[in-house]
Amino acid sequence: MTHDETEKRVGEQELAAFQLHEELDERRDRNDGELESEFNLNLYGTSSKLTFRLVINHLAMWIYGQWRRSLPKTRVSHCDLRMICTMPLDILYEIFEHLHPIDLYHISRTNRSFQDILRSPSSSSIWRAAYEKEDEIPRCPEDISELEWADLLFGKRICQQCGNGGAPPNLTFRHRLCRKCARLCLVKQRDLVFPSSSIWSLVRRSQVINMCPDGTFDDDWPLYLKDESKRIDLRLSLTVDFADIKKVVEEHNKKRNLDIDSIRSHVLKTFRWAQRTAQAYQTQREVRYERNMRRVHARLVRSGHTLIDVQKAQFDEDVLDEIKDLKSSLPTRIWDYLKPQLEPAIHLARLTRLEKARKQLIRARISFIKDQYNQYKKDETHPSTWSYHPPLYTVCEFDMLRRLIEREGDELLSADDEGVKDAMRTLPGAVEEWTREKMRQLAGLLPGSRRVGADACDDLTGDAMSIDSPPREPDEPDLHLLNLATSVFTCLGSTISSIRAGRCLIGWDGAGPHLRCGALQTHWDKRLHFSRRGYEAAGALVELVGWDKGTATVGEMDGFDGRFVCGGCTSASAGEGGRKALTWRECVLHYMEKESDLARHSRPSWSLLTDEAKADVVRREEFDPYIKDKSWTCAHCSVHYLAPVDRKGAIDHCKSAHEIRRPIENLDYLYVITTERTPRRPAVFREIADCLCLRCPETGVTRLRTLGALVPHLRDAHQVEAPLVCRDWVQVRTILRSTMDLPQLQRAEGPLR
Ligand SMILES: [Zn+2]
Ligand SMILES: [Zn+2]
Ligand SMILES: [Zn+2]
Ligand SMILES: [Zn+2]
Ligand SMILES: [Zn+2]
Repeated sequence: MTHDETEKRVGEQELAAFQLHEELDERRDRNDGELESEFNLNLYGTSSKLTFRLVINHLAMWIYGQWRRSLPKTRVSHCDLRMICTMPLDILYEIFEHLHPIDLYHISRTNRSFQDILRSPSSSSIWRAAYEKEDEIPRCPEDISELEWADLLFGKRICQQCGNGGAPPNLTFRHRLCRKCARLCLVKQRDLVFPSSSIWSLVRRSQVINMCPDGTFDDDWPLYLKDESKRIDLRLSLTVDFADIKKVVEEHNKKRNLDIDSIRSHVLKTFRWAQRTAQAYQTQREVRYERNMRRVHARLVRSGHTLIDVQKAQFDEDVLDEIKDLKSSLPTRIWDYLKPQLEPAIHLARLTRLEKARKQLIRARISFIKDQYNQYKKDETHPSTWSYHPPLYTVCEFDMLRRLIEREGDELLSADDEGVKDAMRTLPGAVEEWTREKMRQLAGLLPGSRRVGADACDDLTGDAMSIDSPPREPDEPDLHLLNLATSVFTCLGSTISSIRAGRCLIGWDGAGPHLRCGALQTHWDKRLHFSRRGYEAAGALVELVGWDKGTATVGEMDGFDGRFVCGGCTSASAGEGGRKALTWRECVLHYMEKESDLARHSRPSWSLLTDEAKADVVRREEFDPYIKDKSWTCAHCSVHYLAPVDRKGAIDHCKSAHEIRRPIENLDYLYVITTERTPRRPAVFREIADCLCLRCPETGVTRLRTLGALVPHLRDAHQVEAPLVCRDWVQVRTILRSTMDLPQLQRAEGPLR
């Protein structure tokens, strides 16, 4: 296809786009921003928008705009330029010498005569003069005409092959091809394989000026001419066979190398110029964008939107691009077109802002309620009840308080608020009601609480007797059941060892304070569960002591304070030198934790230690580390409400602040149960130590020794060389009885009270 044919085809196919472009130029000449924007608007509304955008040579437009702006403003409303066509050539030349290269290019496009004039070699002085005034713009290389060079730089981005848009000038190959056509004759670097790296210097490499509307460059373009790279390959294979030709080829290559170098350096120079120009273009575009956005914002605010919403709104990128390209103030027609596209984003920003503000308000109100609730607990309730109060999230759900928190309007809560005062007055009643409800729910889980039978209550698996389901019997569950030693609950959210304080919760004193466990706010049916294993373990312990598991209370078992060892564990399996001597509560937890070891712990089996063995164990027990927990408080005042202390701190406080000489635990000071508790380390039960020295004075401390340790003791401490049983020592029973014994044997000694 010849150049002329291409031109013709382009002219036909893209006539509309061309006309628009020309019209744009013309209007810019008139410096009529408003009209120009209106023109943009027309464009944006049509399907030719894309085509138009693809053919625009933004670089040329920018250079042209800069040039026009640098000229003094003339006010020629209209003049007849037809006489130009009949002017003598030398006068025309005189005029042309004062023009910008881009003007010359535009003139060449007006008709065939001008094109011929500007293409002829005799016009080269005109071009030279034009370029001299614009020393920034790269000069025409020798291998093409001035007009072709101007066309390459300033022409529309129209493909010389197919006439489509999106065809950037290729400086190396002096052509303009769209991506599709470029792929037909060019290849990417990765598709070329040369036997030697030096060959790369023998092939020409593309350099396109592919400037995007935002001033950036898209350089992802096939680089090498297919034909050229193929020829090089062939020539190389010849050199292997013919030594003479090799020499010729070397000469040729040398020359070619030089040629390519010269093209390359010119191409690079031109490309760098394009980059510099693009930079200025970008800067101006950004300045314009900021200015346009300020205008758009101001306009939006004037039409009733809040500035902050306008600023936060995430506008559609396409709309932003259109705003970027606006070159004037906002005429009504453009505004009417843009506004509906901007408003949804502002609307969304407004909703987000209001939602966020509402959440913040709710948080602030909850924080206020928290302070009020704390104040109430501190000032108006006894320290012994603190552990049993509902958690804040529950309190916020109480009707009166929830209404306060969710109240319409955006004012914060204040203590003077009548609504707040009313709600706080109802708080004690609501707390009591909540507590009773929780007690009812917990008692309802226990065996014997309902006539439907105990089996239905084994709901470690969940559903059988969920607190959410209405009771099957209208009868109130007996709240006294919560005092039973067998009333064992568990928090399924507190089963990992580090927070196992919630694993075994016995009676109301265990379960009540754990209702504040964070795990229950969202998980595990939001409640505690009855523990069948805990129930079985506790029942076996109660019966071992000789009591009725249907009536023995937590307090009674605590008071009995026996020491037990687990029959399922052997000395070897227990580790640490033997089985541990556990309190009854520790036994229940042990059996619950051994749920996975069913081989040894399929049913609870306990041995109860005798008084002597227990005394020996207790002698070796460390202090319960919970006395060091900072969870103690004075029972007479609320000084420790926000900052609980260790037990010694509480005792000292009682002595100094309340002049109590010997403060009593749970009367003058107490442990505030939380969901954490440092566990006690039990002492080991030494099964073979069952000998008691009769020579040691009665000091209230019982010490059991093995026979092996007893003999040296009698000799060293009491100078008894030949110890006699019953005179110097006795063997004592260490295990009083076991659940494994026959029932008659178990009952033989009767209940222990
Ligand atoms: Zn094409
Ligand atoms: Zn828990
Ligand atoms: Zn065990
Ligand atoms: Zn006090
Ligand atoms: Zn002794």
